[in-house]
Amino acid sequence: MVKRMAVVVHGGAGAPSTDADGCVRAAHAAIAAMRRGDALDGAVAAVVAMEDDGRFNAGAGSVLGLDGVTVEMDAAIMDTRGRLGAVTCLRRTRNPVLVARAVANTPHWLLAGEGAERFAREAGFAEHAVGNSRAQAAHRRLIAKLRAKLPALPGIDTQFFERQVRDHQAKPEGGDTVGAVTRDAEGHFAVAGSTGGIAPALLGRVGDTPIIGSGFYAGPHGAVAATGVGEQIVRHLLAHTVYGWIAEGMPLHRALTRAIDFFPEEVDVGLIAVSRTEAGSKSNRDMPTDHLEHD
Ligand code: ASP
Repeated sequence: MVKRMAVVVHGGAGAPSTDADGCVRAAHAAIAAMRRGDALDGAVAAVVAMEDDGRFNAGAGSVLGLDGVTVEMDAAIMDTRGRLGAVTCLRRTRNPVLVARAVANTPHWLLAGEGAERFAREAGFAEHAVGNSRAQAAHRRLIAKLRAKLPALPGIDTQFFERQVRDHQAKPEGGDTVGAVTRDAEGHFAVAGSTGGIAPALLGRVGDTPIIGSGFYAGPHGAVAATGVGEQIVRHLLAHTVYGWIAEGMPLHRALTRAIDFFPEEVDVGLIAVSRTEAGSKSNRDMPTDHLEHD
């Protein structure tokens, strides 16, 4: 039986809702891709559009590491045709979500760091300098803020990293990560997500975005993606927890609200989900989103 296609896109918990036009464009890209392909094509097309947008913390707009130079990105894809792929701490690559999709064609599900980058080059993804002017400006603001807290510490040395990261992570912020969930005309589901992580963070830090069951999950009852502070999201295996409630028959919005209620007010968190009959989003912050359904 032919189903109604659906897509929900988010631009990150805590991101300005003025960026929602980027989500609208991404959602239309997903529907167009699903007309030609399937749910995974749709979710990936949406995320590529947002990685290329430049305003989101993914692909071109990924946040800079504390050194002001290094950018490490995470991405993942999963669908109900059995495809699962992810990358973490991937550098110098324009569209990490496309590399995650390529990983799904290997015997592995997750590649990290140097191995992920070598794989990306082998798979035909050219070296690309990420960290645009918007990311550089955000980095300068962050460094100014951190220095103001500890004016006695010179420069960005190891002590600066450790003390500032520890201090700042009393209240870390998620930001502008992107994700999409889709249902195609055959009733298959898919999820895709991509992020530059949070700032400040130590080199090698991994959040929830590339971790199955935490940042993303897709199964026969639907697909779920999370955004927000990865260190908190992983503790609840958030995407799989929500998926489990939907699979048990809980109305989608009740499942999303119940999950957001896990988190104290100061932790940024957001979710998008699609099921056989519903689709929606929920966050405890502003979160740019778009939701489209089409026959
Ligand atoms: N969840 C992402 C991370 O922790 C950040 C975000 O969603 O804004 O890496």
